[in-house]
Amino acid sequence: MADPCLFCRIASGEIPAKIVAEDTTCVAFRDVNPQAPVHVLVIPRAHVPSLNEVASPALLADVMQMAREVAKQEGIAAGGYRVVLNTNGDGGQTVFHLHAHVLGGRRMNWPPG
Ligand code: AMP
Repeated sequence: MADPCLFCRIASGEIPAKIVAEDTTCVAFRDVNPQAPVHVLVIPRAHVPSLNEVASPALLADVMQMAREVAKQEGIAAGGYRVVLNTNGDGGQTVFHLHAHVLGGRRMNWPPG
């Protein structure tokens, strides 16, 4: 049976995505519905539903390291950017495979919506 998780299927290459970076632990790809000139999602290859279920700090370090590299690669590191981890319903999470949004290329608002 096909893996039901959309982001697992992107990580395995079964579903196409605009990949901007990948290594043995994480994949980064462009969001299909960008909310900023740069909007990239960084996911661990391992399936973890949300931040609440993360068992290893190393996995978070891998995701954040790739987020930082993507920001640099996309040319937004010096100007500034935002990394967002929506978690569960009130956090606005809609895809239940941990992902960090890397947003930049415009001035971010605060507080967020
Ligand atoms: P969240 O609401 O934090 O769970 O974010 C999920 C994100 O995944 C949204 O910004 C969607 O636009 C994005 N998304 C959904 N399906 C895809 C896809 N096939 N490829 C790239 N991004 C996607």
